[in-house]
Amino acid sequence: MPGLTEIFGMEASWHRCEECGLPFQVPTYLYDHACWHKKSIYCPYGHENKVILRTDQTLDGKEQTIVFLKKEGNELARRLSAAKGQITKLKKRVK
Ligand SMILES: [Zn+2]
Repeated sequence: MPGLTEIFGMEASWHRCEECGLPFQVPTYLYDHACWHKKSIYCPYGHENKVILRTDQTLDGKEQTIVFLKKEGNELARRLSAAKGQITKLKKRVK
């Protein structure tokens, strides 16, 4: 997934909005700034996300991207299995 790093050569980390679930990237220097000054970051829709010191902050950008993609993969697998369940239900109804 191309991000700020690939497009602008900017070190950045992925986040998911606590409010709307939208994935978005924040340049590392801005995230660190927010961390030090106990400020919040905002998703592109303007939802406030508290900056919490997490273990994945010790990871570098690439590792953070991997952690994010794993979470995203799990979420997609969950949605896929839910959709399969819906299809099975609808098939039974059609018969
Ligand atoms: Zn949001």
